[in-house]
Amino acid sequence: MTSTLIGKQAVVIGAGMAGLTAAGALASRFDHVVVVERDTLPSEPTYRSGTPQARHVHGLLLSGQRALSELFPGFEQDLARAGAVPLRAGLDVRVERPGYDPFPQRDLGWSGYAASRPTIERTVRRRVESHANTTLRQRSRVTEVLASPDGTVVTGVRCENDSGASETIMADLVVDASGRGALTLALLQSIGRPPPEETTIGIDLGYATCIFAVPDDASTDWKGVMTFGQAPGDSRGGLMLPLEGNRWMATIGGRHGDVPPGDAEGFLNYARALRTPTIYNAIRHAKRLDKIARYGFPESVRLHFERLDVFPRGLLPIGDAICRFNPVYGQGMSVAALEACLLKRLLERLGDAPDPIAELAPTFFAEMQALIETPWSVAALDFAFPETRGQRPADFEITLKFGIALTRLAAEDPAIHRLTLEVQHLLKPRSVYRDPTLVQRVFAKMAEA
Ligand SMILES: Cc1cc2nc3c(=O)[nH]c(=O)nc-3n(C[C@H](O)[C@H](O)[C@H](O)COP(=O)(O)OP(=O)(O)OC[C@H]3O[C@@H](n4cnc5c(N)ncnc54)[C@H](O)[C@@H]3O)c2cc1C
Repeated sequence: MTSTLIGKQAVVIGAGMAGLTAAGALASRFDHVVVVERDTLPSEPTYRSGTPQARHVHGLLLSGQRALSELFPGFEQDLARAGAVPLRAGLDVRVERPGYDPFPQRDLGWSGYAASRPTIERTVRRRVESHANTTLRQRSRVTEVLASPDGTVVTGVRCENDSGASETIMADLVVDASGRGALTLALLQSIGRPPPEETTIGIDLGYATCIFAVPDDASTDWKGVMTFGQAPGDSRGGLMLPLEGNRWMATIGGRHGDVPPGDAEGFLNYARALRTPTIYNAIRHAKRLDKIARYGFPESVRLHFERLDVFPRGLLPIGDAICRFNPVYGQGMSVAALEACLLKRLLERLGDAPDPIAELAPTFFAEMQALIETPWSVAALDFAFPETRGQRPADFEITLKFGIALTRLAAEDPAIHRLTLEVQHLLKPRSVYRDPTLVQRVFAKMAEA
């Protein structure tokens, strides 16, 4: 066991999904892992201020669920025990898209789970806490990543507890899972290095969410509903998923100023104006269990750390600190878990290298590009709305037409339906759509149209 260790101590900044999964990946390769979190971490699955997005629907893609099971064997059973609701892919969520209200519902042969974000996070946190060599340090805010005087090597972090006392924690590796990557960017600035280039897709998304008790007369045809607007004119959409405790969480939202209000009546009126009445009809007489929560998400952001010539040894940003996606596509937690699996594989692979920690960040940045390509190209579908800011891909019109024809094919053919869901769940890359036989079939559909 000792021979496989690559360092004495690793510090992870942030106990969100990226931080917890990274801690899981690091545990067998360091003597000790310290996760430093500014919030009090609740023992019950309740909200905390450091992750305000947790009040909104958090769909866990199947790729994410599998990645979590790889990091924490038995995770799915833990989630089921915590009350998560099983969802059969293709069948249990009614999907409403223009031209398909609903899209054909079919059992595609695999299942996932729906649960609140606090429940998912707490389930992962319990597994991290069970590692004897891992410490979760709560109410401790990292104020600075520390580096050697020449800025080439990261040596630890400085943090401040809730009574204002400052402390230094030394580390061979610091993983920045703080969500925004502000500490990594501040370090690069302080050592005179340029920040990574940034690609953004401006969407000005406004979300509002409310929790309801599932009424006795709820539809038995579905457990959740996803309603899309008609691009480019109608950006409104809704997603309602079941939660543990026989509840529904309904999130509705729109873009570029068409955002839902924060009062109960306004919420219902906005839901009534969605392209279909399914969500409104389901919730209008349902018992509201919480106040309306709102969230503004201005843009998807991708930081190109892979383009930097040099990067301090012993530092690794991860999760949202590298890439934040439009949450509508439900990708962030799953990408974070997939990145942690990549980190785990790299630690194994680099274990015999002369200086594994020096090689870690550059290798991670290079190899995670393949992992991010599909979710980022999904986020780029936002260019279907003309107000979207950013660099519209050159072939975007063709991409849109291809997507419409592919959807028609998926409605007719269960095998293509399955394939599109596998891509949406990040089980397969979008490049599978370049298969020549599939391309031929899609082009034939485009010609029919
Ligand atoms: C409205 C909304 C809805 C979303 N819906 C989905 C969804 O349906 N499905 C999905 O997979 N993803 C969704 N996401 C994305 C998802 O929440 C994140 O991508 C995912 O949780 C990974 O985030 P993270 O751990 O990198 O960062 P965060 O979740 O932001 O966690 C960062 C953690 O670091 C802590 N922290 C920050 N600074 C410091 C500091 N200086 N010192 C100590 N601690 C610090 C914070 O308190 C927090 O605990 C959604 C996001 C939003 C905004």
